[in-house]
Amino acid sequence: MSAIDTLPPLREVIATHQLSARKSLGQNFLLDLNLTAKIARQVARLTESDVLEIGPGPGGLTRGLLAEGARRVVVVEKDSRCLPALQDIASAYPGRVHVIEGDALEVGPLAHLTPPIQIAANLPYNVGTELLVRWLTPPEWPPFWQSLTLMFQREVADRIVAQPGSKAYGRLAILAQWRCDARIVMSLPPGAFTPPPKVSSAVVHLSALPAPRFEADAGTLSRVVAAAFNQRRKMLRAALKGLSPDIEDRLRTTGIAPTERAEQVSIEAFCALARAMDAT
Ligand code: SAM
Repeated sequence: MSAIDTLPPLREVIATHQLSARKSLGQNFLLDLNLTAKIARQVARLTESDVLEIGPGPGGLTRGLLAEGARRVVVVEKDSRCLPALQDIASAYPGRVHVIEGDALEVGPLAHLTPPIQIAANLPYNVGTELLVRWLTPPEWPPFWQSLTLMFQREVADRIVAQPGSKAYGRLAILAQWRCDARIVMSLPPGAFTPPPKVSSAVVHLSALPAPRFEADAGTLSRVVAAAFNQRRKMLRAALKGLSPDIEDRLRTTGIAPTERAEQVSIEAFCALARAMDAT
């Protein structure tokens, strides 16, 4: 029996339901319930929140979230083989689990969630990054969620929290840090997962700020940042040439040297440039 609930250990769950890991679904499972409880404790305001968990698999993190007191957990899982195991968890925690079968890139779970809402996930790299970008770029701010607690491969986690002047600094850092506090809260070696992936992982915690750190139109900022980092080795006057014929003047007005490279420019300066681009 596991230390955190009365359900069988995860290895047994996997054997019972024949959940051999599928590479095509990015399945690297966390089977240590002490570890999943530790990740769950990183989730903000857990006991008073509904948690949206994407990709629960056999339910290690789901069980961690519930054992640590999440008010409710709504899970979205694409692999139908996992559903019986998830239903067993729902039965062990009556009224606290809602299971949705589907692709998280397509289903909309909002109707099943009551604020405050936190999001937690251990997802395959490509799906995780795509969902993160969607969660960070809603039409309105603040978003429907208060915090994100997400497992990423270490290199992606480093890009989310990167500071200007570092190689990892780019579009993802700016998207994340413009409207959130972002930090790495845990590091995990490949051996923490079954089967072990090739690279290390890290849990990133992002909490949504009530308003963006600096004023800027989200669309303009996104265009400026995308153009600047698409050609990150070029000087800004060249990388941004396509955005405006008088880009050098606009850069100077903003206090950015036209000879600087995107990597050097702070989020505050990118926001000032976005405002200058919108000024007639
Ligand atoms: N959360 C579990 C854990 O920590 O052990 C499983 C993690 S495993 C890395 C990723 C999970 O996401 C798998 O269960 C996989 O089936 C699921 N998944 C992959 N793509 C998905 C998608 N597009 N929508 C929903 N779930 C997905």
